[in-house]
Amino acid sequence: MKEVLIATNNRGKAKDFETLFQPFGVQVLTLNDIEEAIDVEETGVTFEENAILKAETVARLLNKIVIADDSGLEIDALNGAPGVYSARYAGTEKSDEANIDKVLAELGTVPTEGRTARFRCVLAVAGPGLQTETFSGSCEGLIHTERKGTNGFGYDPIFYVPEQERMMAELSPEEKSLISHRGAALAKLKVKLPQFIQQ
Ligand code: IMP
Repeated sequence: MKEVLIATNNRGKAKDFETLFQPFGVQVLTLNDIEEAIDVEETGVTFEENAILKAETVARLLNKIVIADDSGLEIDALNGAPGVYSARYAGTEKSDEANIDKVLAELGTVPTEGRTARFRCVLAVAGPGLQTETFSGSCEGLIHTERKGTNGFGYDPIFYVPEQERMMAELSPEEKSLISHRGAALAKLKVKLPQFIQQ
């Protein structure tokens, strides 16, 4: 069976990929399935750079087809921050709660119309004999003034999705995947998937 490795230790992310790959008879592995500890430092200044860096480094080390993603939140009033620093915005310990507190404090009393933001996700596919390709998706919304909802992760409790009239953290996983940045990038990857796995 053909194997594809997802460059993540996050089971939640891996599950999305397993669902996508199931119809293609491809076995999905993650970094948890590999004996050697691989940790690629995200030194890029764009989501594209980080996704490509992770996919190509792990593909070279393991000689396998590898998919890596990088994602985050861009807030217009903060000039695109937290951007590639989304996971560690409030410090290196990667606390969702502290990150949200920092964003809310920085936005302060900025009125609703000035609180526009988007989640972005870039997926990169690299592997032996493959030309590295990227697939991106975004999801537009507004940063609310308070937390609401308990689903999802990261900034979901303060990310209001106008078309759903709810916070991202109030959507079910199925609802989220239909409108999310990651869902959009995965849908684009799905179209090209047969080409990658036939090589
Ligand atoms: P990474 O792509 O694993 O580096 O994560 C980037 C960070 O962006 C996460 O730790 C979250 O803070 C944020 N993020 C990315 N996608 C989402 C999402 O779907 N909801 C909420 N926060 C997200």
